Amino acid sequence: LHTRLPAVGTTVFSLMSALASEHSAVNLGQGFPDFACEPALLDHVDAAMRAGHNQYPMMTGVPALREAIAAKIAAVYGAHYNAATEITVTAGATQALTTAILCCVHPGEEVIVIEPAYDSYLPAITLAGGVPVPVAMELGEQGYTVPWDRIAAAVTPRTRLIIINTPHNPTGSILRAADLRALTDIVRGSDILILSDEVYEHMVYDGARHESVCRYPELAGRSFVVSSFGKTYHVTGWKIGYVAAPASLMAEFRKVHQYNVFSVNTPMQHGLATYMADPAPYRDLPAFYQRKRDLFRDGLKGSRFTLLPADGTYFQCVKYEAISPILESDFAQWLTTDIKVAAIPVSAFYSQGRESGIVRFCFAKKDETLRLALERLARL
Ligand code: PMP
Ligand code: GLN
Repeated sequence: LHTRLPAVGTTVFSLMSALASEHSAVNLGQGFPDFACEPALLDHVDAAMRAGHNQYPMMTGVPALREAIAAKIAAVYGAHYNAATEITVTAGATQALTTAILCCVHPGEEVIVIEPAYDSYLPAITLAGGVPVPVAMELGEQGYTVPWDRIAAAVTPRTRLIIINTPHNPTGSILRAADLRALTDIVRGSDILILSDEVYEHMVYDGARHESVCRYPELAGRSFVVSSFGKTYHVTGWKIGYVAAPASLMAEFRKVHQYNVFSVNTPMQHGLATYMADPAPYRDLPAFYQRKRDLFRDGLKGSRFTLLPADGTYFQCVKYEAISPILESDFAQWLTTDIKVAAIPVSAFYSQGRESGIVRFCFAKKDETLRLALERLARL
């Protein structure tokens, strides 16, 4: 078979969730909440279905939802996107990311990817015929940081796109204003585009501010900005997200979008559009998850795990070198089968499988789930 992704296997998230379920382990691996979304959100969707919103929506997304997204971006980041020409609703962030890559990367062009990186980026670049250029984050006292000098050094005349992700999966780090300024300096005067994965935009802790590229006109003018309702509203299974980009980029995005999904399910778009009028759910999210983060971190303080900083996302990375010298995937497997708590090896987020003795736990769980996991982990 002469196929496109011969080296790609099943994602680590599917594998670890299957292993967790096989061994009845508490699943802190794959990132998804184990609690229900707000009942009001379900009421909005139910009302939309009963009102007859059940046929194909516009290819670009239900207008009311695009308007609501534009209003939110304006309210939160002070950036103005035209809902008709600069916002498209997608089947989750994953489809937005792949579509953005496919619409702008030509065969042989380079895409700079900061590792560890979310696992969908590399296969999407490969499908486009692009060449991934990985640059590793550095891990120091402050946790993971992006070495902008090495990003600058990785730029060549063939660089088409730089992918950034803040808050960052899996490390839980966030980009600060100085990072965005460094990125601006790198791309100024070039025709390099930016793909900014901001699915955890509303999960930033300790009073920090989410540095969306939307806040920086010089960057926003060359960026696809991606988010996901799955993360913000605790409905990862709905697979609805969006992309915001200047009209010229969005026109190209839509050419691909219309032929890989055409459009995204109608009733949920209507439900989200009316539900979004209330900012409370995303405004309250940092406090909601910060409390869970702290519960989880406090529970591990007496253990031999070393906690890395967790400034954003719903992930906590830990070093386990004081417990075991084994490879990350073996350690995550052992945690799942023997300790009965599933985790994700951070090595799965590197193209070359770099080993740092670190695994990722997801704390988007009921307190009782976290307590049960902590009972098992705190003994290690
Ligand atoms: N990007 C990152 C960094 C993610 O963690 C996720 C969630 N797994 C996605 C994109 C995909 O989001 P969605 O489920 O909306 O496709
Ligand atoms: N984004 C989720 C995570 O990092 C998983 C999404 C998926 O299963 N593809 O755990």
